[in-house]
Amino acid sequence: MSNEILDLLIIGAGPAGLSAADAAAREGLSYLVIEKGTIANTIRQYPVGRTMFSTPNELEMRDGALKPIREKPTREELLSHYIHFVLDHDLHINTSEEVIDVQGNFEDGFTGRTRCRSLHRDEHDRTYRARTILFAIGAMEFPRRLNIPGEDLPKVHHRFVEPYPYVRREALVVGGGNSAAEAALFLSEEGARTTMAIWREDWENRDPKAGAMKHWVRSPLEREIAEGRLRVILFKQIDEITDDSVKLTTDTGEPKTIPNDVVFVLVGSDADLSLLKKLGVQTEPGKLTEVPKYDAETCETNVRGIYVAGHFTHSLHIKAAIDVPRKIVPIIAQNLRVAIRR
Ligand SMILES: Cc1cc2nc3c(=O)[nH]c(=O)nc-3n(C[C@H](O)[C@H](O)[C@H](O)COP(=O)(O)OP(=O)(O)OC[C@H]3O[C@@H](n4cnc5c(N)ncnc54)[C@H](O)[C@@H]3O)c2cc1C
Repeated sequence: MSNEILDLLIIGAGPAGLSAADAAAREGLSYLVIEKGTIANTIRQYPVGRTMFSTPNELEMRDGALKPIREKPTREELLSHYIHFVLDHDLHINTSEEVIDVQGNFEDGFTGRTRCRSLHRDEHDRTYRARTILFAIGAMEFPRRLNIPGEDLPKVHHRFVEPYPYVRREALVVGGGNSAAEAALFLSEEGARTTMAIWREDWENRDPKAGAMKHWVRSPLEREIAEGRLRVILFKQIDEITDDSVKLTTDTGEPKTIPNDVVFVLVGSDADLSLLKKLGVQTEPGKLTEVPKYDAETCETNVRGIYVAGHFTHSLHIKAAIDVPRKIVPIIAQNLRVAIRR
């Protein structure tokens, strides 16, 4: 363990962590970002070639810096923007290193233990000391499961990356949100014989504030259905997945077996709040799932010196993940200056 004590340890190099690192550098804080995957790991895991919902001004790290070819950037354009932002500003980020434990308190300082994994697969642990910690860990840790027989078969995936291996295969997508709808559309357009299993309330939901499918996803999806390439089944439950079929119960209670080569279960994901809870951070029910409790102005939790920002808080989009650290890191810097003077 080095003797240095960082002003701010940031966990996660998604948009929130990158924005926090940039703000910390501007404030002259000693900081380090620890990222278990790669820079902007969540965006790297989007489907290949995916066009973002958001416009450049909601995604970019500096005004006018993100210049997509079309109106909205693709996954690749956004990823490249974030990576070059890190390189150009020489932000302090360790990748392939996971924070596995955090202990301590504001008065004595916090200690973060990490596990580093090299590309050669050797592992070693490190320890860092920090006055404050910002959790920017996102909400992708645990993809939700159906918990049914057959869900662990190799043909079942809880993330969708690309349609190309499934041309002329029988594909089933389970889920009612934008990710599921986009995957079904992408598969169908690229020649997979696609079925989308969706709950009636999701299919009939037209309210964007209640998480309805974006209209620019729904319209082409409905075109695929009208042209007979995509089938929608309103279902009550998926009962079992076997090597060559899926058994489900329809919305009207009938059992149905459909031939199947690949299943995508895209029903959301949850954050891993275990490190926060171990530190004593309280949680509360959020719009979709459990979220940490924090001060609306400072994003400090009930544990002094522990802050939160990004997708696992009440703010679900990239714009807030970037804006919030810009607001709170100067507050963290000011609090540290006051504490040091005492
Ligand atoms: C398919 C898809 C499409 C989306 N499209 C849009 C869109 O068009 N517009 C929009 O605004 N939002 C979109 N979102 C949501 C967007 O991805 C999130 O709002 C955004 O990634 C939040 O940024 P973040 O920094 O809070 O979290 P993340 O980007 O998830 O970053 C968190 C990081 O923390 C790391 N991490 C977690 N735990 C640890 C640990 N213990 N140690 C070290 N590192 C850790 C993770 O590896 C990850 O890289 C989409 C999401 C998905 C899944």
